[in-house]
Amino acid sequence: MASIFSKIISGEIPSFKIHEDDNFLAFLDINPNALGHTLCIPKKEIDQIFDLDDETLSELIIFSKKVANAIKKAVVCERVGMSVIGLEVPHVHVHLIPINNMDDMSFDTKISMTDSQFNETMNKIKSYI
Ligand code: 5GP
Repeated sequence: MASIFSKIISGEIPSFKIHEDDNFLAFLDINPNALGHTLCIPKKEIDQIFDLDDETLSELIIFSKKVANAIKKAVVCERVGMSVIGLEVPHVHVHLIPINNMDDMSFDTKISMTDSQFNETMNKIKSYI
């Protein structure tokens, strides 16, 4: 069965897409730690990041760098943190999270956002890609 993220890639499930190329997609996390929390995924459906072939892994990090630099310009934060977990969705994803302290990376605190805030954040980050 296709992962929830494969359904986002195909458009079967809606998302706030930030950036996309032939092999990768970046979109806003639906349950964000912070405004601008973004997920970068390979379109190839693989569960664990270190099962990616070297080329895809390298390209995913370079794709994530491009998105992280845009987030840094769009969102006021100390820096953009990067995390890979994958316990909830078995499809490789890099979390990019605007942070000001260690707690912002903890996944204990979540913020709620309206659709219009998601749209505004998506468009702002997109404008810096
Ligand atoms: P992890 O697998 O790394 O523990 O977490 C999966 C992440 O995917 C969570 O931060 C969760 O909020 C996000 N997520 C789960 N389902 C969806 C979805 O349908 N849409 C979006 N945009 N994010 C999702």
